[in-house]
Amino acid sequence: MEVRRTAPVKLDVPDQRREDFHESAQQFLYCANHAAEFCWDTTDYTNCVTSNSKARDALYDDLRAETDLTANLVQEAIRRAVQATKGCVERWKQGKCVSQPEFTSWSMVYDKRSATFYRNKVSLSTVNGRVECGFELPSDSPTPYEEYVLSEDFEFRASTLQYDPVDDEFYFHITTRKFDADGSDSENTEVSADTEHQTVLGIDLGVNSLAVASTGRFWNGDDYDHWCREFEKRRGEMQQRGTQAAHNALLRLGKREAAWRKQYIHTVANEIVTEAVEHDCDVIVFEDLTDIRERLPQAKWHHIWAFRRLFEYVEYKAPERGIAVEQVEPQHTSHRCSRTDCGFTHGDNRHGEHFECQKCGYEVNADYNAAKNVGIRYARKEQHRLRSSPKSAGGDAPVDVRVNGGMLNGESYQPIAGD
Ligand SMILES: [Zn+2]
Repeated sequence: MEVRRTAPVKLDVPDQRREDFHESAQQFLYCANHAAEFCWDTTDYTNCVTSNSKARDALYDDLRAETDLTANLVQEAIRRAVQATKGCVERWKQGKCVSQPEFTSWSMVYDKRSATFYRNKVSLSTVNGRVECGFELPSDSPTPYEEYVLSEDFEFRASTLQYDPVDDEFYFHITTRKFDADGSDSENTEVSADTEHQTVLGIDLGVNSLAVASTGRFWNGDDYDHWCREFEKRRGEMQQRGTQAAHNALLRLGKREAAWRKQYIHTVANEIVTEAVEHDCDVIVFEDLTDIRERLPQAKWHHIWAFRRLFEYVEYKAPERGIAVEQVEPQHTSHRCSRTDCGFTHGDNRHGEHFECQKCGYEVNADYNAAKNVGIRYARKEQHRLRSSPKSAGGDAPVDVRVNGGMLNGESYQPIAGD
């Protein structure tokens, strides 16, 4: 199976080169929006361009001539627009309201030809030649960078450079992947543009792992928990002192904590959206969070806060990449067997992080099982809706859930009472 990791790394950008990145990001946005304009057709989705090679053939030379970006940055900007268009076309086909994708946020995609890694720095293409940036890494070793980027087992994948205007810093979200012994690759080939196809990414939120995707990717949130506890400890100490100075320090700490929390959740949200983009998903599905407090009595307030924020951020960011965000009823997702030929639901199926179906014996990580169920539940509902809609071409439109190593079809899911 495929293992994918993203290590967010703060870059040390030389002062005199910061403007080169800002200018590059402007031009990258220009290319992406120009390509989105080219790909879009307001009258009929069949006229929209959803083939990367078609868009590249039509746009590449002009965009190279018009901008100072390198070949690979131009190509990634076009690819981003095509991906977003593809997602919009899929939703248009389902009768959902769509408009031409528009890119506004500061974000650039680097591939292995536009980014070169060294032990303590990375060299990145800009409009003004390459810029070498050092890393600001945490002191404890091995850092995620050492583990997942420098390791020979991991292969560099397209990664996103982002700028945080609040603290005026650049962050490189470095994505790498490796394969297990069997060498299988869960990435699929391009989804053909002429089928009524929908691909779903299911997300489970929880206490053991902050978020788990149906592709098998985990955001374990250990560092989130760790720092929340540290902040809490510091707060407790300051409250005990009770002086005016301690009170002021407490306020400052509160601000710092709020900023840190937001940054953390933003990063995870971006990675979830990227996971969906890279697996050609059209929809990201979460559980409804309304009764989350009751359902997860062991969750602390900072967990609940993180779940709600994470959903909000993904809901806000995903449409920019042409991906919809939906919610499903949360009942039984953690106790139900996610094998579509089984679906047995029982409280004894789950023990902590371990899931073992009492009927078919399927054993798997409990959060991964739940993430699959979230995706399957949405796929089944959508399949049902399409079949009963008079506008639909009939029951032929498949809705698939992207899982580790392949796809599950919503059709084969056995419904249970009350489901
Ligand atoms: Zn089972």
